[in-house]
Amino acid sequence: MPFSSLGLIDPLVSAVEREGYTQPSPIQAQAIPAVLAGNDVLAAAQTGTGKTAGFALPILQRLSQTPAPQGQYARALVLTPTRELAAQVADSFKRYGEGLRLSTRVVFGGVSINPQMMGLRRGTDILVATPGRLLDLTARRAIDLSKIDVLVLDEADRMLDMGFIHDIRKVLKMLPTKRQNLMFSATFSGEIRTLAATIVRNPVELSVTPKNSTAERVEQLVHPVDKKQKPSLLRHLIVTHEWQQVLVFSRTKHGANRLATQLENWDINAAAIHGNKSQGARTKALAGFKDKSIRVLVATDIAARGLDIDKLPQVVNVDLPNVPEDYVHRIGRTGRAGASGKAVSLVSADEAKQLFDIEKLIKTKLDRELVDGFEPVHDVPTDPKKLPKGPPAAARSASGRSSGRPANRSGAAAGKPGAPRRRRPSGGGGSGGSRAPQRAGSRGR
Ligand code: AMP
Repeated sequence: MPFSSLGLIDPLVSAVEREGYTQPSPIQAQAIPAVLAGNDVLAAAQTGTGKTAGFALPILQRLSQTPAPQGQYARALVLTPTRELAAQVADSFKRYGEGLRLSTRVVFGGVSINPQMMGLRRGTDILVATPGRLLDLTARRAIDLSKIDVLVLDEADRMLDMGFIHDIRKVLKMLPTKRQNLMFSATFSGEIRTLAATIVRNPVELSVTPKNSTAERVEQLVHPVDKKQKPSLLRHLIVTHEWQQVLVFSRTKHGANRLATQLENWDINAAAIHGNKSQGARTKALAGFKDKSIRVLVATDIAARGLDIDKLPQVVNVDLPNVPEDYVHRIGRTGRAGASGKAVSLVSADEAKQLFDIEKLIKTKLDRELVDGFEPVHDVPTDPKKLPKGPPAAARSASGRSSGRPANRSGAAAGKPGAPRRRRPSGGGGSGGSRAPQRAGSRGR
């Protein structure tokens, strides 16, 4: 199905051709006609599905066909959870809208507010913003939101996770009641539905992925390893597989910094990206990673949310997230827009609970593979029923101040005959069914 059959005007069809998109993605095929028709939309779509063009193209079209009010007004408002996502969404609007006379501005915190105020002096057609900075700007009367025609909440689930609900509610109060509302979220919890009920009216509901499904095109693998060995195993994998562009996830900011420094000490170009870094440092790290002068970008979940890096081949979890949905978001960084990708998780015994929670969510038992020379002393259980009772060790160390002591220490793991890692997988290839770890063909350290 060509883009032109969705009712898009020529300048926008030309824009997607320039981008090299040959046909609409499923979310675009559904969202574009619905938005063009003026409907509210509630869409379950993860990053990587092409959702940005799904709302940007029809918004550009509608704005290009209606006159702009004179003054310090914005006509379309897109709220995003992170600065990086805001910048990327604004970039998409600018690229797609090249053939139209529409202005796009982006505002987010962490940088000086004055240039943003100057930029908004004559108003803007499209305003992409993170909620906190938008409130600062409205408090200074830098922009008037009373003539907004269309509101987009992008990655609404993450905005709630990040505690933006109060800011969002304050922004909503400044908008006219008559407007079009589009809400995009990767997951649909009760909380999201409650928020949606107060925003969208008679929405067209769209879903392109079953709830919380893992990107099927991403090859996933678990390497059981002792916690202390994780940095060395990461180095080993980068070097032996000659990975040139790796996005590594760390649960904590401190862990991300430490790992990036460690890799640099090993002459592997690395940078950390997280909420404590200045906007300048984050932009620089991301640019370096995109142009491949930085080989490894170590990111926390929040900082990495929404990053769009073309054809990113490799994602590594050096530790597992406490929230299983974050695993889905993490591995969604690779295998984007039809490309194939790989996601590897380095899992220590104290993370068994998180691993089982993830497997339950994605309804897949992940293949486990031991790497020669990095076999763990503390084995990672393969059967959830054999987890020790009580709070999981990883939850206790969620702050990153891990005791380093594993939660599980089985006799088998200590090298006795019959240890799970010595066994071959019981059910042959494929990804179904519980299995013992396989041995990787790679060499030792
Ligand atoms: P998004 O989910 O909006 O973050 O988009 C993910 C990636 O898919 C971006 O790099 C887009 O440029 C790309 N993309 C969006 N729509 C299409 C399409 N119809 N065909 C191919 N790639 C696309």
